[in-house]
Amino acid sequence: MGGISYYSTNRNINEAGFTPFKGLVSFKDALMMGQAPDAGLFMPERIPNFSRGEIEDLRGKRYFEIAHTVLEKFLYADIDSDYLLSICKEAYNFKVPIEKVHDRKYLLRLDQGPTASFKDFAARMMARLMGALKDENKQLNILVATSGDTGSAVGEAFKGVNGINVFILYPEGEVSGRQKKQLDTIGGNITTLAVNGKFDDCQDLVKIAFQDKDLECLNLTSANSINIGRILPQIIYYFYAYLEKSEEGEKILISVPAGNFGNSLGCEFGRRMGLPIHKLIMAVNENDEFPKYLDQGVYQKLSPSKACISSAMNVGHPSNLARFFDLYGGTIDKSGKVLKYPDIKKMKTNIFSVSISNQKTRETIKNVYDKYGVILEPHGAVGWAGLEAYYHDNGDFPLCVSLETAHPAKFPEEINSLLGFEPELPASMKDVDRRQGCPIKIENDYIQLKKFLKSTIENK
Ligand SMILES: *Cc1c(COP(=O)(O)O)cnc(C)c1O
Repeated sequence: MGGISYYSTNRNINEAGFTPFKGLVSFKDALMMGQAPDAGLFMPERIPNFSRGEIEDLRGKRYFEIAHTVLEKFLYADIDSDYLLSICKEAYNFKVPIEKVHDRKYLLRLDQGPTASFKDFAARMMARLMGALKDENKQLNILVATSGDTGSAVGEAFKGVNGINVFILYPEGEVSGRQKKQLDTIGGNITTLAVNGKFDDCQDLVKIAFQDKDLECLNLTSANSINIGRILPQIIYYFYAYLEKSEEGEKILISVPAGNFGNSLGCEFGRRMGLPIHKLIMAVNENDEFPKYLDQGVYQKLSPSKACISSAMNVGHPSNLARFFDLYGGTIDKSGKVLKYPDIKKMKTNIFSVSISNQKTRETIKNVYDKYGVILEPHGAVGWAGLEAYYHDNGDFPLCVSLETAHPAKFPEEINSLLGFEPELPASMKDVDRRQGCPIKIENDYIQLKKFLKSTIENK
């Protein structure tokens, strides 16, 4: 009974003019609020644990069954178990291949969901958790600004979820042709608005809408990447990979290409829940603020961030670093100011972090293809190069899994220039270029957006 409650990573900040949120909220409130009232990130007050036997009992189970068992450890008091199983089955209705590269070194391909990005795993579950926990008689309206991939992952995730409408704003001139197709053709309860402006304009429009008292009656909610509802599902695939490839009790080395650190945080949670993780490798691109911190003990965010070919990881101050600091006894705020440093020694026993240059990323794509016939894209290549950097410093390790977070076909030009061919599109995207969509176009004008939202939502 009672269940697990959630606190804010800013709760210990003691500064003039700042009001920390010292309370605890339920999972439902954390999910619906997105972030704490003091702009901190929600964290579970305790991390549930699996015994060795409980983990062994999961061997041979299917992905959605493992998802159910892992999530139930957190949500046992919040969602009915059978219902949770049904949404796990619905959310994870695609393959999760673990591809052998060589020996017992594997690639966990998280690129088979509807938008061919690992973000599908988190977004599809968050959408269904919101659908399950929202007030039954209320419509929920999600408003998001996107510069590309996140929008389509969120849109596809909420498609067909009862009682929830999604409005996605994107900058008309700043998304690729294929991204535009993906966004414009979701349809159903998902509306896309092509804004005549930049990504920052879209974000500003969304921010104004959230602060507009006139729109309170519309029950607007965000679905941003720091929502705890997107972190919990990112624990599951570490259990799955472990169960598929390890011997009983064996340790595993995991490498994660990291940007905002939500994915790698899932692995950190997994270890705390009882998975025998030898080490978590957090491989970043040239945005090297975190490996520098582990090396030198001083944290300095990068501003502006560097534009690297693994573009979804161009992050100069990862938002989930606040959660890592918190887990190791430290506090850092949204702006990147450290209020208390964490236990870096302990952090370094569990985590290895390395920065991979663009050049190294490209060499890795080429070498891995030439040697093993496996196609990586720039994000996955950063992860793989992280594994190799680890061997270089610490020697080989028998069982290793590196994550592939997007499908190579999403990067046709880069792959073509390195390997001399374009990878085939995954099944979920085969018809994307032929899809017909017609987005609603709006100016960069809040009044126009407001009118549109009011009339559309009131008529639903
Ligand atoms: C978002 C994203 C990442 C980074 O994941 P984080 O959880 O932000 O660290 C890596 N690869 C791809 C393809 C992404 O879309």
